[in-house]
Amino acid sequence: MKRILQHFIPGIARPDPGRRNTKGEWRPDYPCAYAPVFVWPPRPLAFLKWLVTWPGFMWPRNLVLLAISAASWFWFQPELSRCAQFQWEWISQLFLRNQVLIWLVYGSYHLYFYILKGEGTKGKYDPRWPARNSRTFLFRDQVYDNIFWTAGVGCALMTAYEVVTMWLYANGKLPYVSWSTHPVWFVVWMFLIPFWREFHFYWIHRLIHWKPLYQRVHYLHHKNINPISWSGMAMHPVETFLYFSVVLIHWVVPSHPLHFIFNLQHTGLSPACGHHGFEGPILDDKWPTGSYFHYLHHRYFECNYGEAGIPLDKWFGTFRDGTPDGEGSKLREKH
Ligand SMILES: [Zn+2]
Ligand SMILES: [Zn+2]
Repeated sequence: MKRILQHFIPGIARPDPGRRNTKGEWRPDYPCAYAPVFVWPPRPLAFLKWLVTWPGFMWPRNLVLLAISAASWFWFQPELSRCAQFQWEWISQLFLRNQVLIWLVYGSYHLYFYILKGEGTKGKYDPRWPARNSRTFLFRDQVYDNIFWTAGVGCALMTAYEVVTMWLYANGKLPYVSWSTHPVWFVVWMFLIPFWREFHFYWIHRLIHWKPLYQRVHYLHHKNINPISWSGMAMHPVETFLYFSVVLIHWVVPSHPLHFIFNLQHTGLSPACGHHGFEGPILDDKWPTGSYFHYLHHRYFECNYGEAGIPLDKWFGTFRDGTPDGEGSKLREKH
């Protein structure tokens, strides 16, 4: 009981065992590493282990997100027949459901890390807490600013993509596959979606780091040098629009609406884990979460545009492993 309580009572969290540099920045002892997928020579055993063991590709991240998508589709999705015409009734139902999901995921991480301070500063990359009274942010407050962009604009655009796609499905205008007619493709496509997301994200991200777009669009996300979970979708609407365009693949590749929802919710919910600013595992070392890989992008800007699955950054010379003299340590620091 004491072990559970210590997570929920501020100030008595365990001491920080990590290493901090002179600026107080927490660093893991190990370099950022890629998943053993695109490696030569192939490592089939390491790949299998990564695929099925905890924590790995399936557990917990992708299967939890798939479970959320399946619950959304089976229990909280308007009947497709209702979506054949644009009507506020089903559109507002989708918006409300997405709003609840965003608050549950982003809000839970924020509550645990930043309100209850359940981990204290253990594994907190940047020793500072969210910015208050800062002119950088809307309402002079990083948390309110980030909530506005993520739960407000982010959720609205996420829902807009869903509304148009459901309308297209309902009117029979999209290539459709069902579980009963194409079970193999159904599973294979579901498995490939996280990789498609990484590929799409890397290139969209490279695009918005092009100076004219960075200065007008992507600068907004990078106000968060010390990100929190709500920073995940704190983006300019143009960036959010490009970010969610990952789901347009379902307009051309035969898919079930569940593939679309998985892709959409994966895109809309996983940034919470990539931005909360703590190195997992948390909750007494039981829950793997956090992305030092993406934190390094917020800290140094010109590195780690993608994610830690497909080594696109490695192939294109933008990978930084985070150790003081490791790979990418000589990359430029400021944008
Ligand atoms: Zn980010
Ligand atoms: Zn960026």
